[in-house]
Order: sequence, then C-alpha cells, then structure tokens
Amino acid sequence: MSLAGIYIHIPFCRARCSYCDFATGTYAAPLAERYVRALAQEIRAFPALENEACEADTIYFGGGTPSLLSPAQVETILEAVRSRFRIRQDAEVTMEMNPGTLTPEILREFRHLGINRASFGAQTFDDDELRQLGRTHTAEDVRLTIKYLREAGFRNVSFDLIAGLPGQTLEAWARNLDEALKLRPEHLSFYLLEVHEGTPLAEQIRRGRMPHTDEDLAAEMYRLMLNEASRAGYTHYEISNLSLAGFESRHNSKYWLGHPTYGFGCSAHSFDGARRRWSNERDAARYTELIEAGRSPLVESMELSRQDVEAEAVFLGLRLLRGISLHEYQRRFGRDLRAEQADNLARLKEAGLIEITDDLLKLTRTGALLSNEVFATFV
Ligand code: SF4
Repeated sequence: MSLAGIYIHIPFCRARCSYCDFATGTYAAPLAERYVRALAQEIRAFPALENEACEADTIYFGGGTPSLLSPAQVETILEAVRSRFRIRQDAEVTMEMNPGTLTPEILREFRHLGINRASFGAQTFDDDELRQLGRTHTAEDVRLTIKYLREAGFRNVSFDLIAGLPGQTLEAWARNLDEALKLRPEHLSFYLLEVHEGTPLAEQIRRGRMPHTDEDLAAEMYRLMLNEASRAGYTHYEISNLSLAGFESRHNSKYWLGHPTYGFGCSAHSFDGARRRWSNERDAARYTELIEAGRSPLVESMELSRQDVEAEAVFLGLRLLRGISLHEYQRRFGRDLRAEQADNLARLKEAGLIEITDDLLKLTRTGALLSNEVFATFV
C-alpha cells in the first residue's frame, strides 16, 4: 500500500471572489473556533486502518484560506493528525494562503509548526483584473508575501495563476507570466477561468457587464505559458501544473496516481487507495453541528466497480504528462489496453491528442489542452 496523504479543508475566506464556487464562506471567529474543535474531533475518531495505510507523507491545508487560522488553531489540527497517523519525518506539509493576509511573524510561526510548502492564489499581476475577480489582494501583496515567505524559511512556494479572464489580452497575459516567473516560485498551477453558474461573475457576464471568455485566446495563453515556463526551467508535469526539478506537488500527485487520501472537514473527499470513496457534509456550520452532536459528517460513500477503477487509472494517470505504463496497467488489471482500445487510440493519435511509445501512453500538448475529449473516451 502506498503512503497516504491527509487533506484538511478550511472553509473560510476574508471575502468571496466573484468566480468562486468552492465550499467556503466569509470568516467569522466564533464558527472558526468551533469548526477547528470539530475537525480535530473528526480526525481523532478516524477508524483504525491497516498499519501501512496509517502512515502519511503529505498533509495539505486547503480551502478557503487556511492561513486565516491562528497558529494555535493550526497546531490543534496538526496534533490531532499526528495522534491518528504516523507522519513521515520528511512529509510535505502545504498550506494554501492568500496574499495580503499574512505577516512575517505569522509565517515564521506556521513554518515552526512544520508547514514547509506555501501555495497561494496570485491569479494575476494586474490590479484591475484582481478587482474584477473580487480578490482582496494587490500584485504588490504577492511580491511582499513571497519575500516574507522566503525570510520565514519557505523553500517550496507554489503560485496559482488564472488565464482567460474576461477582456484579458495575450499581451496582458504575457506580462503576468513574466512577473510570475521573475519571482521564481518552485511550482506553478495554471487554470483557465471557468465561469460557474450562480457565481457573481456568471451573473455579470449574463447581464453583458463582462465579455464572455474567448476559448481560442485562452488556448493561446496556455501555449504561451508552457513555452515561457519551459524556457525559464520549469517542467510541465501535469495538465495544469509545472515545477522546477524536484518540486512536483507530492500531495496532488496522490490523487492522480490513485494513492490513499483521507480528507477531513466539510466537503472533504477521501479515497482508500483501492475501491472506496467517501465525502463529508458540504456546509461548514452543518458539519460542525453534526460533529458537536456526536454524529457522523459523512454524506456519501461508494464502492467503485472494477471498471471504474480501471477507467480512473487511465484518465487520472494521463493527467501526468509522463503518461501511463501499458505494461503496468496489464500487470495491475490483467488487460491489454492497447489491444482493447485499438480503434479509440488510433483515432486519438490521428487527431494528435496522444502519443504511444513502447510502453507509455501519454497526452501531447494539444491533448493536454483538450484533455476532456481524451478522457471521455475511457469513461
Ligand atoms: S480565496 Fe479562493 S476559496 Fe476563497 S473565495 Fe476566493 S477563490 Fe474562493
């Protein structure tokens, strides 16, 4: 069994961004305090597993904005995790942060608690675009935050960037990239803006106050990103992720490789690394009430079929640009994917979306951009 990853969901933000549809709400100290207690209780009550599965080498605080918690609250959660799981000495411990919410003192305290990787939503270096997205930080806050992080001893920093913003030009995106690469984060996550129904951004676009995003232009931005980042020494290792050598996200790789990942907190999802997936109540207040009442926060639990597991191994594995090993697939499932999917694979290859070498099936750069088309073949 592979080492597990632990995910902790912190559902609070300073303000809500106009495009966000994550399970998160505005920070309120009384609920945050109760939530942290409930979270620690959920972790401590985690059922016993086989020994190996109880060993983890990643902890990931996601959200939301986990860095809004006080160091004492983070310590409470980490103590609960360490009481239930054996955490490797060299574990990757990530915290999502938002620029403009952090001081050098607090970052030093987080570092002291064992947080060794910071992931934050820079999104864009254009203050007008940041305002448009409803972000509460400025580009200068990003520069300052990375300076504070380095001073506090963080040697592993990841930026999120969003392209395809309404009205964004290729030139503006190129300037953004330039700014981001100059700051030399070890890792970059890159997203094309998705407009989710029910968000303020979707409403603004529907009312004609914002232009629709231009998909062809977004594709150009994706290509530009890959070219510029690779010139700057980054490796494109997953559809939306690039890193300097040795700084691939160890935690997120567990999702793509089908390793066990145990999630705690509202809306958290878990996978036992074999067949079972389960998830928690989405609403933070309801989640807290359930735990306080001594009830389970679980809302869904499912056993994957053998076909589901095989399909996931392909479409999650293909997210990694190194591809999947056809021999390994045959060893694991006893099936020859190349023979069984011969027609589909030939069609995808013909369309320039995949490459097949002796043992590896992988996406091309165009395939990475149109990955949903490729994955639909295997679902
Ligand atoms: S900071 Fe992230 S999680 Fe919070 S509202 Fe903005 S996009 Fe959503």
